Amino acid sequence: MLRGVNKPARYTGGELNAVDKSASFFGSDRDRKVHAALCFPDLYEIGMSNLAIQILYALLNGDQDTFCERCFAPDFDMRDYLKENGLPLTSLETGTPLADFDLVGVSLHYELAYTSVLDMLHMGGIPLFNSERSEKDPLVIAGGPIACNLEPMAPFLDLILLGEGEEALPQLIGLVKEKKRQGLDRQAFLASAARLPGVYVPSFYQVDYEPDGRVEGIRSVHPDAADKVEKRLIADLNQAVMPNQPIIPNIEVVHDRMVMEILRGCARGCRFCQAGFTYRPLRERDRGLLFETAKQLIDNTGYEEMGLLSLSTTDYSDLEGLVRSLLPLTGPRHINLSLPSLRLDAFDFDLAREIAKTRRAGLTFAPEAGTQRLRDVINKNISEDDMIRAARTAFLNGWDRLKLYFMLGLPTETDEDVEGIVTLVRKLIAVWDDLPREQRSKRLNVTVSTSYFIPKPFTPFQWARQINREEMAAKQEQLAAGLRDRRVSLRWNDFSSSELEGVLSRGDRRLAPVILQAWQAGAYLDAWHEHFKPELWQKALEQIPGGAGFYRRERSPDEHFPWDHMDVGVNRNFLREEWDKATRGETTPSCYDLCSACGCQVYMTGVCPGGSMS
Ligand code: SF4
Ligand code: SF4
Repeated sequence: MLRGVNKPARYTGGELNAVDKSASFFGSDRDRKVHAALCFPDLYEIGMSNLAIQILYALLNGDQDTFCERCFAPDFDMRDYLKENGLPLTSLETGTPLADFDLVGVSLHYELAYTSVLDMLHMGGIPLFNSERSEKDPLVIAGGPIACNLEPMAPFLDLILLGEGEEALPQLIGLVKEKKRQGLDRQAFLASAARLPGVYVPSFYQVDYEPDGRVEGIRSVHPDAADKVEKRLIADLNQAVMPNQPIIPNIEVVHDRMVMEILRGCARGCRFCQAGFTYRPLRERDRGLLFETAKQLIDNTGYEEMGLLSLSTTDYSDLEGLVRSLLPLTGPRHINLSLPSLRLDAFDFDLAREIAKTRRAGLTFAPEAGTQRLRDVINKNISEDDMIRAARTAFLNGWDRLKLYFMLGLPTETDEDVEGIVTLVRKLIAVWDDLPREQRSKRLNVTVSTSYFIPKPFTPFQWARQINREEMAAKQEQLAAGLRDRRVSLRWNDFSSSELEGVLSRGDRRLAPVILQAWQAGAYLDAWHEHFKPELWQKALEQIPGGAGFYRRERSPDEHFPWDHMDVGVNRNFLREEWDKATRGETTPSCYDLCSACGCQVYMTGVCPGGSMS
């Protein structure tokens, strides 16, 4: 069967460190055991590069009465094969159809995966709507970074986990065991689950709309469903599962490396950044624990690269100490240390030289905006002087590749701000040109990547308008005209998919039929440029008066958001003050410098007052 499909190893399982409990699991006592499928609605190569999948897999399989298997979205060829032969979508470990699991958990990381979720449920033999599922169907649970607003997917999901899954999942598994033991029906189970903090049962809430389509309110219509769902949070990151025996894929995946999460959350407060707010407060792992984990990872994997992951790696309180302690482990084995998400104002070139002894990556700056005025609006704390100084040092030390990331369409952006990108790039190139030839490499390569600003829930810009196609095209034209230089490559994000991401991310339940229609018309793996079919979405969005424009509009200060019944710690008043400050061009200090009492102080952990890092 697999001979005819591309990359068959995507579907076979059996990788090093994969767990197969089938020999002991399926015998007796099935009613006290939980069989779970962990689904990632994208291809194997993407899902297997995702740390959350490895964490949840290790966590669930750490319980002897739970057997967690994996399932990824099949590529088109495999999907066609399954359809043509009337075969269901199955798990990797034992080839079990999704419909036969007790629980199907979907890890959701981006909105453009929604149609793939529907496809996986359908191909797995599970009714799409929660209202259509019977007692024999699995519970469909979703979680992940975008769980703070999954309203467009609400009718398709039984439960949503808000916040860090490691906290709520073991309790939920306990409830599933109880359900099986006591023979509870689905509704009784959902009621008991709804009482757990961080668990959202969408069918227990009713949404009312204004005549123009805005949400008037969302209220609990079940006695066990709280008015506000509180996110779950791991107070002590040292207690969180860190997989030291990750599954090693048999084929090349996007990130072929071992990883350690050194920090969770971010202290910076860039006003466009959803993860920066929803993962607050910043917490970190002890250096000693990371060192021990690194040793185990090296022994258990054989990878040639180790990634130190976080949203902002330079914020680790003793990054230099950590790196210097790891180098004796990695250096002799020719393992590269990779530190993504380095902030340039904290870039230490001595350290970078040590790290880059074996391989020199490009230098990446993410100023996001071209002028200091706009960087203040978005609270991005990088100055032009920082960048020029860092670039000069980098060029003198042999770096010759520069990557710059900007957003177009940010709130208050003017033509001068777009021109500011051109000016900034030119200044950085001038730094290179001004260096004596013998002190730098031969040729400079600059990549300028621009994305399209997408207002996200739980950010100060959740009220902002998203620009339209014509405005975007004008900005791109201006930039392209200003950056004609053979040393500069200009890259854009696709407009239509970014617009759709914006629509879905601030969307409400009225989008569920839109997603369904797009999927029925053939939308699948929408996050892939080559598979994205904007015309299907455009057609489906005709169901909504105003179409995409309805969701792109600026929100009034008191508009009820579809996500207002979610509590991620950061409160709405704080975000509104941040929005007002943004429009005045005022910045807010990072959590390190001053606590702005964003709402997360109640957790009293990490960088917050009373926490270990404060
Ligand atoms: S530094 Fe800014 S953009 Fe980066 S994770 Fe933190 S808040 Fe987000
Ligand atoms: S309460 Fe203060 S320190 Fe904690 S995340 Fe909010 S602003 Fe930062």
